[in-house]
Amino acid sequence: MRVLVTNDDGIHAPGIELLEQIARELSDDVWVCAPSDNQTGAGHSLTLSLPVRLRKHGERRFSVTGTPTDAVSIGLKQIMDGPPDLVLSGINAGANLGDDITYSGTVSAAMEGALAGIRSIALSQVMTQERPPSGDRFNAARHWARRVIEPLLDTPFEPRTLLSVNFPSLDASEVRGMRVVRQGFHDYARASVVEGRDPRGQRYYWFGLDAIEHTPDHGTDLEAIAEGFVSVTPLQLDLTHHASVAALADRFAG
Ligand code: MN
Repeated sequence: MRVLVTNDDGIHAPGIELLEQIARELSDDVWVCAPSDNQTGAGHSLTLSLPVRLRKHGERRFSVTGTPTDAVSIGLKQIMDGPPDLVLSGINAGANLGDDITYSGTVSAAMEGALAGIRSIALSQVMTQERPPSGDRFNAARHWARRVIEPLLDTPFEPRTLLSVNFPSLDASEVRGMRVVRQGFHDYARASVVEGRDPRGQRYYWFGLDAIEHTPDHGTDLEAIAEGFVSVTPLQLDLTHHASVAALADRFAG
């Protein structure tokens, strides 16, 4: 089995080191291609207006001066000598739950893998203000990632689908299990934008990512995490709201 490991936090992030370790427990053919810098919030963007540079960090270990999508694309098309059986993206330092998905570079890297027809899994470690008792912020992911990935290795994935996995901000022993759940939502429309002045007096804006306090809907990723479970959410590349197609077509009918 050949595995491509990537992320959005950059090649030097602790989460990708952990994911690489986990991948090596599952395979002896692990490749890494990740952004050279932190690309959190890059979503599914592709670099089109600048050249992307590739740097070799070691045997089968590379970074690109671009987005997570660039990294997967270059990994698949330029670096690897054959397609991987699995793309693993993460482990992101922070949640990718609910509406985070379309902003998420971590999930988008897995989307790029799914677009290429490869079994792809995004993995994110939820991080809260309070650390878990052990102080190891990746503790849940460290001990649960393999238990999540292993059964998926021979699970058929529907075409144009991928998985997003989130680990709760708990020590591994406190995690209550795994739940397959749908995507919930939070309301980033009300999240803060801080306005300030730089040292030269120019105005700037800086986005906050405040958690919106609300009761997560039943059966969602947000609820599973709030209740101490690892959440596993199947996603699809087709964003069409199928139920609206017929009604909308009626509006434009002769
Ligand atoms: Mn990130």
